[in-house]
Amino acid sequence: MIFGKDEERYEKIKLRVAEALKRDVGRGIVRFDRRYQKQLGVEPGDIVELIGERSTAAIVANPHPDDRGLDIVRMDGYIRRNAGVSIGDYVTIAKAEVQEAKKVTLAPAQKGVFIQIPGEMVKGNLLGRPVVKGDLVVASSRNETYYGGSPFDELLRGLFETMPLGFGELKFVVVNTVPKGIVQITYNTEVEVLPQAVEVREEAIPEVTYEDIGGLSDAIQKIREMVELPLKHPELFERLGIEPPKGVLLYGPPGTGKTLLAKAVANEANAHFIAINGPEIMSKFYGESEERLREIFKEAEENAPAIIFIDEIDAIAPKREEVVGEVEKRVVSQLLTLMDGLKGRGKVIVIAATNRPDALDPALRRPGRFDREIEVGVPDKAGRKEILQIHTRGMPLEPDYDKETVLRVLRGLMKRKTFDEGTLKRVIERVEDARSEDEVKEALKSESEVYAEVRTRLIDRMLDEIADKTHGFVGADLAALAREAAMVVLRRLINEGKVSPEQERIPPEVLQELRVRKADFYEALKM
Ligand code: ADP
Repeated sequence: MIFGKDEERYEKIKLRVAEALKRDVGRGIVRFDRRYQKQLGVEPGDIVELIGERSTAAIVANPHPDDRGLDIVRMDGYIRRNAGVSIGDYVTIAKAEVQEAKKVTLAPAQKGVFIQIPGEMVKGNLLGRPVVKGDLVVASSRNETYYGGSPFDELLRGLFETMPLGFGELKFVVVNTVPKGIVQITYNTEVEVLPQAVEVREEAIPEVTYEDIGGLSDAIQKIREMVELPLKHPELFERLGIEPPKGVLLYGPPGTGKTLLAKAVANEANAHFIAINGPEIMSKFYGESEERLREIFKEAEENAPAIIFIDEIDAIAPKREEVVGEVEKRVVSQLLTLMDGLKGRGKVIVIAATNRPDALDPALRRPGRFDREIEVGVPDKAGRKEILQIHTRGMPLEPDYDKETVLRVLRGLMKRKTFDEGTLKRVIERVEDARSEDEVKEALKSESEVYAEVRTRLIDRMLDEIADKTHGFVGADLAALAREAAMVVLRRLINEGKVSPEQERIPPEVLQELRVRKADFYEALKM
């Protein structure tokens, strides 16, 4: 498999996980055959990403001579844990994109351990190490890191010997890194060691990308400008002497993709993401709502760049004349105070969503607060089609091979000279002779490339037609429709007795029959 941009094509390989040599334990290195190193374009000393259930990074070291020609990668238990693999599993390996760590925060991995140790000292033993948030690393007094012995080695050894931890090892969890992703600890890195174990919430960043959002290209463009740009490049705003936005209001009916948009921009900007919703905040015990808001802002500032997403903000901040209990008033003013107090110029951005922008306390819309807005509207036909495409991506769709439609598509291909004319003529003749849908399909299959092209176009037409029939549907409705269409297929197979929960395994022929057709969507629409 080849991934990546044209200019830097790199590959990913899969190797079987084997245990590390004893002396390598705790060093953060992996050993695998030269041949695979070449394939990945790496050399000893380079950093690779290891992807199993989790993803981590390690330094490439020379392969062990006995392993020559074997399809294995040797790594210790820490790396296996960090990559989420066990011995004998396959792990995906790729050349890593590494950034220098500005700051790495560590905490003891063992609960109940209390330590006080300068970060500089631990850093000495981790120099050169690539780490990812959530990794378990070991600072061992017998560690010779890849950069050789550390100047703190003696000190560290003395220190460990006085601590009742056994083995002279101290295990740390990487609680946070700046920047995010794979970072390498260098002399410039600030290493902070927290005194006690903390819970690490992994993957605060949701895995939504702009490609998962349909029909909102204008909104995406705006949010990239208003949120992604300042989070990624605050220096642009500083240089121009303008304030990046602190708050952006997304407004539109429920289920149109406001939450998706916020998650996607957080993901693309590599920002810490904290989501809360208005009703939840308000339902906290009396007096706790403001405390909760303060905590959230604190978490965001500590993990900047960060996005705070407040869904249904109207529940917190209704127009003051409209309601209003004491609690709401206090919560609104707390929110405003926190937003006014946001420092760090553009490093924390609050995105709020509402379907009733007019019902909002106007104080929230003043300059320096939610002073930008993005409409997230009900999708038009083209938008609905895009959304359907997204939600049927992983589905085995099957078009109808209606003869007239197929012939129209083929003639279209003829005009566009996509295929050799003789080939197309032959296929057209065969299709013209066909007397059933199955025969049409068979005729097409005689030329596999033509078949693939026609099939793609038929599926496109099918989604086009469904988009046409779903006026007024929002993204959430279309996602539900796609799911429901798939359930129609499943229910039919259950009714026909082909699928039942008692079956040990579903026969492959039945899996083959799991195809979602236009009629299934129509069936789903009736419900
Ligand atoms: P909102 O925050 O506007 O109420 P969400 O973003 O929570 O809506 O959308 C709910 C679900 O509906 C999403 O998880 C997604 O599956 C689907 N969805 C909504 N809008 C879109 C869209 N524009 N493109 C793709 N899927 C969408």
